[in-house]
Amino acid sequence: MLTTHNKVSNKNNFFGNTTPIDLIKEYGSPLYVYNENIMRERCRELKNLLTYPNFSVNFSVKANSNLSLLKIALEEGLNADAMSPGEIFVELKAGFSSEQILYISNNVSKEEMQYAIDRDILVSVDSLSQLESYGQINNGGKICIRFNPGVGAGHHEKVITGGKKTKFGVDPSLIPEIKDILSKYNLNLVGINQHIGSLFMEGDKYIEGVESLLTIAENFDDLEFVDMGGGFGIPYKKLEDEKRLDLESLGKKLDKVLFDWTARYGKQITFKIEPGRYIVAECGNLLGSVYSLKENYGMKYVGTDLGFNVLKRPVMYNSHHDIEIFRESNIPSNKTETVNIVGNICESGDIIAKDRTLPEIFEGDIINVLDAGAYGYCMASNYNNRLRPAEVLVTSEGNVKLIRRRDTYEDLIRNF
Ligand SMILES: *Cc1c(COP(=O)(O)O)cnc(C)c1O
Repeated sequence: MLTTHNKVSNKNNFFGNTTPIDLIKEYGSPLYVYNENIMRERCRELKNLLTYPNFSVNFSVKANSNLSLLKIALEEGLNADAMSPGEIFVELKAGFSSEQILYISNNVSKEEMQYAIDRDILVSVDSLSQLESYGQINNGGKICIRFNPGVGAGHHEKVITGGKKTKFGVDPSLIPEIKDILSKYNLNLVGINQHIGSLFMEGDKYIEGVESLLTIAENFDDLEFVDMGGGFGIPYKKLEDEKRLDLESLGKKLDKVLFDWTARYGKQITFKIEPGRYIVAECGNLLGSVYSLKENYGMKYVGTDLGFNVLKRPVMYNSHHDIEIFRESNIPSNKTETVNIVGNICESGDIIAKDRTLPEIFEGDIINVLDAGAYGYCMASNYNNRLRPAEVLVTSEGNVKLIRRRDTYEDLIRNF
């Protein structure tokens, strides 16, 4: 097997007792593969972020809601955030209790709020009109409000969710109006939250956001928790040795901010974070197959089954994913070349890796897309009537377990 271009998964023993070649033979191509050890390690790193005692990590399952992975998060002592009734449904199925779930809603119907209320799940609303709607159906109930502290952070305009130019959260200048609605419906504001954006690699913006949120918190006397948001970044350029987010330094600074603030507030309330990507991005790889090679007007194209129906991030956000290559036989070649790796979808934007300089690739090679565990499968679709891939887990013992079967053709007409 070619061993020159798989140093990241090699170092992590990502594939345990199996190989990408065998996995593709058994489960088909493309294929999502997850590594249990890596996921557990990421859960533990965040659980240990703070020394502050009342601290909880809510896994934002929109990043990956495979039931088996949710069960791992639960075993590791994480709670869960939901963005929709569907997410509440799978979280309850995975075994999370109502108290462990926070429903962070955005522009939802009263029926959706009722779905959470019926299951004793706390709802966070993010506008005055949604607060009003909630009061109308759950007079006297508990509620959480999402604020927009006016700062944002993130890797791409589309994922910056705080700051003055986004649709999320309530503007803190509306606190008097909030208080009016709370008292009109006798609502008990038990928590406030924010999420300023996704994929920060330096902690300072996050801390700045937390400090603004704490200033907002001082307006309310009966808070049980403050939820500081997710967005913890991971290094997507591992082949260039990109540095990890410095959790130790972030944790220390946050601890100080939180201990100081609670001393002033007079109550050791709970602090929550809501990471998605950090928990699952690196424990997931996406395998695909090379079926064709061609040169078009001076550019070399590597044709694969990795269309944006399978992994949307490169097309949607211009995201970078490192690429590894696996090969069954050792075809001698020490050439490198610059290529575009493309999928099989009928759109010219269907490029998973652009202008990459890689060892020469041959037909039959397996492409391993790194760090595909977050916003990978959950954004996959049946576009072009392609089947969504299977998902397998490499367990802590190194064995393989099927955790979601591949779509079948019958699935394509299931709802007719
Ligand atoms: C998406 C989202 C998260 C998780 O973001 P990550 O960047 O994956 O950590 C957390 N909270 C809210 C409200 C979100 O919408």
